Amino acid sequence: MSNGAVIITGASRGIGRDIAIGLAEAGYDLALVARSADALEQVAASLPGDGTYVAYPGDISNWDDAMRIVKEAHEKFGAIHGLVNNAGVTQDGLFMRMSKENWQLPIDVNLNGTFYFTRAIAPIMMRQRQGRIVNISSVIGLTGNAGQANYAASKAGIIALTKSVAKELGGRGVTANAVAPGFISTDMTADLPEKVQADMLGQIPLKRFGEGKDVAGVVKFLLSPEASYITGQT
Ligand code: NAD
Repeated sequence: MSNGAVIITGASRGIGRDIAIGLAEAGYDLALVARSADALEQVAASLPGDGTYVAYPGDISNWDDAMRIVKEAHEKFGAIHGLVNNAGVTQDGLFMRMSKENWQLPIDVNLNGTFYFTRAIAPIMMRQRQGRIVNISSVIGLTGNAGQANYAASKAGIIALTKSVAKELGGRGVTANAVAPGFISTDMTADLPEKVQADMLGQIPLKRFGEGKDVAGVVKFLLSPEASYITGQT
């Protein structure tokens, strides 16, 4: 039997795909969101378990796409248990050389995209008197990072958004939490120079980079009955 439906953005690869695998194993139906329809269909076809997995291609930084996808997923599944705002991008560059365009991209995708999907799902979850929102922030949103002022600001914004939503929706049984991973081996981090990767590894207590499934485990917990009294946390 299904544990309910969960929308995952950025599910075509990396951490989002690993979250999809973890949630499929845990018995959820899934609405998979990313820009590439082909990549989403491939993920949907490869997922374990016997849930219903549906691809919803779209750009999360587009308000109309977000509204359409949430509406279609709601019509398809009838109720939505969870929303995982995972899709995100980096556009690194030193602050003194950062153009308006470079500043804008992570804000549009990471912060605005999280707002759009949360804004679309909030009335549905409030009517259900039940729902779980999990936003993927980053440790960079807590510490800041040279060369990532735009990304850090977007990820810090996600934490503040999460805490505010938790306060407004908690009375209707809807929780909102953020997850702030450290360095996770994905396409996003693969291109970093070896020296940067070695420096980062030196600061990690467990002396290995994280994997997508390490993040998926936390997300799965936040969607589970055991986490029903956790909200507004990072
Ligand atoms: P990734 O680049 O491997 O995957 C990003 C996913 O987001 C892809 O599915 C991509 O298609 C999707 N996406 C990007 N822009 C989109 C848009 N405009 N509309 C729809 N989908 C879009 O990245 P990842 O490493 O898997 O990162 C996933 C999340 O985890 C991001 O929010 C990232 O900031 C965060 N994060 C990653 C790390 C890390 O070390 N990899 C650390 C902390 C936080």
